[in-house]
Amino acid sequence: MNHAETTAIHAGRSDFAKLGCHAPPIDLSTTYPVDDLETARESLNIMAHGGQPEGNSVYARLHNPTVARFEEALARLEQTEEAVAFGSGMAALTACLLAARFKRQEMSKRTSLGEHVVAVRPIYGTSDHLLSNGLLGMTTTWTQPDTISEAVRPGETILVVIETPANPTISLVDIEDVVRQAGDIPVLVDSTFATPVLQNPCSLGASFTLHSATKFLGGYGDVIAGVVATSSIWARALRHVRVVTGALLHPLAGYLLHRGLTTLAVRVKAAQESAQILALRLKQHPAVKEVGYPGLLPCGPAAETFKRQMKGPGALVAFEIRGETPEEECRKATQLLDRLQLISHAVSLGATDTLLQHPASLTHFLVPRNERLASGITDGLLRLSVGLENVEDLWQDLRQALDSM
Ligand SMILES: *Cc1c(COP(=O)(O)O)cnc(C)c1O
Repeated sequence: MNHAETTAIHAGRSDFAKLGCHAPPIDLSTTYPVDDLETARESLNIMAHGGQPEGNSVYARLHNPTVARFEEALARLEQTEEAVAFGSGMAALTACLLAARFKRQEMSKRTSLGEHVVAVRPIYGTSDHLLSNGLLGMTTTWTQPDTISEAVRPGETILVVIETPANPTISLVDIEDVVRQAGDIPVLVDSTFATPVLQNPCSLGASFTLHSATKFLGGYGDVIAGVVATSSIWARALRHVRVVTGALLHPLAGYLLHRGLTTLAVRVKAAQESAQILALRLKQHPAVKEVGYPGLLPCGPAAETFKRQMKGPGALVAFEIRGETPEEECRKATQLLDRLQLISHAVSLGATDTLLQHPASLTHFLVPRNERLASGITDGLLRLSVGLENVEDLWQDLRQALDSM
């Protein structure tokens, strides 16, 4: 089997020889003319239930070849049977929740069971909001990674949701341990921060590996998308949800993501190298209280988890500003953002440029304050997404802002 760098460049291109092309064609058709009604109807029936087209694709909500090439490439990188792409990371998470519920209903032949989800904080702010607000008719028990087995309700829990490295503290959750505790309940791992280059959760027993493809997979900050790597059985369920809810990825976005994958490994490694340097320098700066970065973990269980499940510490660094009181830490953290000259003050991550943001006042603003603090999102915490600029230029910008604290 090839290495990830090679797979990222060649996967999803098996039909090129037949097509006689070198770059992936972008198929913008919304409909596909029917030449034989019988086979088109059969193909539609298969796709409407999440299967792949047999011959005619009929209509672009059912299947698109440009998106399918990106999906094939991502599945190869995650070493899963299949992958299913969506219009955003949130659409992908929603589809996993709905697919898990549908599967449970099919198994129990009942339509409403008061479905229950178990999840671990911290987690991406909008995922937290979706799981907390009851919009999908499910309730969520928030728990610690080591008490998942107690939070799970047999016959009721449809999914266990974790994120590792977690947003925005960059803390790690032991995937294999969570899978063991979950038993026969499927586990979803949001692996956005790790990318398939650094971590493959399905190889560790997870049922769903979710990426906000908006971040590192796209890589240039110009595509919103989500993707789930999974088994063929779950992929069928996810495509079924996608067909009926319409949470599609546009073919142009599929093309950009497929192209983005070819540079994924180099981008992640270059940004990671700078992140390691910046994390260390931040840790030594007197204005910084604490740094969260998998590459700086002291010996202990977290460092063991890191070694077991990740190939590198990644390009995201969390750090806390020092202050006398939480109010002062909050004020100083936002002041630092105002003093940046090169680094952008912006949410999101995984683009070519370096971004810094203050989770307590933006991305995790909706998480209740007590819950937020309990999960490590303090008032002085900042989250840095390291890009591809020269590391000395990045440090100079951070240092001048920190020195003036
Ligand atoms: C951005 C993000 C999401 C949501 O993805 P969208 O593409 O913005 O919908 C989910 N999880 C993590 C970890 C993210 O960073």
